[in-house]
Order: sequence, then structure tokens, then C-alpha cells
Amino acid sequence: MYDLLLQHVDVLQITNGVPSILSRHDIAIVNRRIAAIAPQISPGLARETLNGEGQIAIPGLINSHAHTAMSLFRGVAEDVPIEEWFNNFIWPLETNLTPEDVYWGTLLGLAEMIESGVTCVADHYFMMDVIAQAVQETGMRALLAWTLFSGADESDQLARARQFTKQWHGAAGDRIRVWMGPHAPYTCTPSFLRRVAQTAQELGVGIHIHLAETAAQVTQSLSAHGRSPVVVARDAGLFDGPAIAAHAAHVSPEDIAILAGHGVAVAVTPKTEMKLGIGVAPVMALREAGVTVALGSDGAASNNTYDILESARLLALLEKLRSGNARAMPVGATLELATAAGAQALGWQNEIGVLHVGARADLALVRSGAAHLQPLHDLAATLLYSAQPADVSTVIVDGRILMRDRELLTIDKPRVLREVAARIERLTQRQTAQRIAVYPDARSA
Ligand SMILES: [Zn+2]
Repeated sequence: MYDLLLQHVDVLQITNGVPSILSRHDIAIVNRRIAAIAPQISPGLARETLNGEGQIAIPGLINSHAHTAMSLFRGVAEDVPIEEWFNNFIWPLETNLTPEDVYWGTLLGLAEMIESGVTCVADHYFMMDVIAQAVQETGMRALLAWTLFSGADESDQLARARQFTKQWHGAAGDRIRVWMGPHAPYTCTPSFLRRVAQTAQELGVGIHIHLAETAAQVTQSLSAHGRSPVVVARDAGLFDGPAIAAHAAHVSPEDIAILAGHGVAVAVTPKTEMKLGIGVAPVMALREAGVTVALGSDGAASNNTYDILESARLLALLEKLRSGNARAMPVGATLELATAAGAQALGWQNEIGVLHVGARADLALVRSGAAHLQPLHDLAATLLYSAQPADVSTVIVDGRILMRDRELLTIDKPRVLREVAARIERLTQRQTAQRIAVYPDARSA
């Protein structure tokens, strides 16, 4: 007996960057996994059926780098360079956050993600225990990393991250996994990075870190350590296990070889990187070297949305523009960054990001009837270049329906919106004397 049967959907599959469609198929789900995909499966074999006529079934989208609770700061710091963005806005504002604020901000971000077809997020933030609680309650899948900074309380931070890992790694039926989250080489000393790497190895978990976001960060690293941020991270042991490097916008050929040699995945966040004017990773060179490149949003304070299809679209357009080659980042390969490559980056390869028998049942149904999607000459191209979050009708994670016909089933959205609205005035009071950390001034490099 199947738990759920999706009927009459067009199934998007991508193999080695080449998309294909199974027209009008049924997808049977049992015990949280895809059990069968066939032209016709008897509805009598299923406890629950869902008619997907006129809809495209896609692998759930994977957001490989986000700060979900920063939905609270959407639009607070516009048209400013990264130093001002951190020092005058984000890091002072984040000192206002209480665990309850982070909880409601995370629910707002998760609601937006589910509404846009995202089923899994690699989240990097603090007060991670309430974020884990929000992920557990909503039914989302997440890889969580508690952000760590150098400072007087390094040992306390490590002890807390260790405790958090023991409590949550593999929780919620393995929907939640935990990695270590050192913030960046410019906010963590090499000796602290080494302690973080050792802790990750002891616990058997990976590393999620910001790396080489700006040219100035590379210059500062070379002058302070005589090594690039990638080499500093490698030398600290951060790449001895699985790792996600967010951004990696400014990497040398030597850095790329190191990332490839250690199997480090790069989470590129093109909208944030373009908006802050800091540069976007050399995606084609990374891919040619064998680096797994996945897509992230970063926080909503820099991206303004958690729409991963928009990020995918921007990346494909950027690569075509900067290479002068319309064949660069074709449709299937680009969609793969937001699905199977994300799964690879997060350590869930072949489990999520694909619609195959045996995979976890993490998927989204996209309605294809809207005027901006018709006619359907090429479903994959329509998805990448034309679809909007509002076209996503239904989202399933681990076999559980989280949104049905645009109705969120695990999040009380009116309450989330009320809770967020009630907090905004207090949260946006800026006391620039207090900061979470200090972004190094590029002029002092
Ligand atoms: Zn980030």
C-alpha cells in the first residue's frame, strides 16, 4: 500500500545535465521515499491520491547557503557596499535579536521557501536551537550550522556547537543534519579554525564557511597570513571532511585546484554577489576543475528573496554574458545546480535533488497553465526562465505534504506575519556601538 499517489504529472528528470520529461506519469510514495514512477499506477493501491493534471513534478529545490531568519531584515540595507552593509546595518541590527525573533524570522523564511518550491536549506546562523525547532515543526529538510566567530568565548561557542550537533544531527527522521559553521577566515583566527576543524572531525560532520567573498578579503588574507583564504582554510584542516564554501568569488587557479582536490563544494549566491557588487565565482572554471557548484540565496537582507529559480536564472544569464557564449550554462546544467548538485554539496547525493525510485520524496508540483508559461515547447526552459514562485502549487518533503494548492499546511502564516510585524520596530533600531562582529575596512588592507 502506497502512502501517497501523485497522478498525471509531467516528471522532470535531469541526467548529466540533460533534462527529460516523463509525460503524464504517476509517482507513488511509501515510507517517505519514491516507490514507483509509471504511466499508470492503480489509485486503489494508495491511501491518498493527489491529481497533478497540468502540473510539472520537479525535484525539490535546494538552497545551499542561506541565513533564513534574515527575512526579518529584508530591505533594511539597500545600495550600500559590503563594509557598510555589515558594520552600519546588519551586525548592529542583529544584536537586537532574541531567540523568539529568530524563531519567527526563520518561520517567515521557511514559508517563503516552501511557497517557492524549496525543500531543503543549508542554514548558517546563531541561536540555531530555535531554528532547528522551526525546521522540525515545519517538516522542511535542513543542514544547520551554528555561526562561530573568534573572540574571548571561543571555547564556550565550540562547546555549544558540539552540544547542538549531538542533539540535532540526524534528528527528525534525518531531515535535520548539523555541520560546523565557522563564519569566515576574516572573522576567525587560524588557530580557532583549526579547533573548529578538529571538533568537526571528532563529531564526524562537515564544515560550512564563507570564503573569499571579495577581492579585498583575499588581499587582506595575503597581507596578514601570506596565504589566500582558501589556503588558510585548507591549512586549518577545514577541508579534511565534507565542506561547503559559500561565495568563493575570488579564487586563483591554485585555490580552484585545492577546492577540487579536497571535494569542497562551492555555494554560489549570484543575486547577493551582484547586488553587493563583490563578484561571482568563476563557475565554469570551477566546474571544469571538477568542483561541485551549488546555488544559494544568502540572507534575504542581501538577496531580498529565497527564490532559488531566480538565482539559477541570474547565474545562467551572467555566465552567458561574461563568457560571450550563449551556450554557457545550458538549461539542464543550470537546473542541476539547484537540485542534484545541491544534494551533493549538502551530503545528501542521490537521496534528494532527483526524482528517481528510491530517492527521498522531496518534490514540488508546478502549475503550467499560466499565460507566462504557455505554450510548453520546452518544460525545463519554461521552468528556468519563465516560472515564478506563485506557479508552485504543492510541496512535499520526506513524503509529507507541506503545501497543497498554495495552502501551507505546517505553518500558520497569518500568525507568522503578525509576530514578525510586531517585532519590526524594535528590531530595526540601530545602535552602531554594538555589533555582532566587525567587518575589516578594505582601506586598511
Ligand atoms: Zn552568507
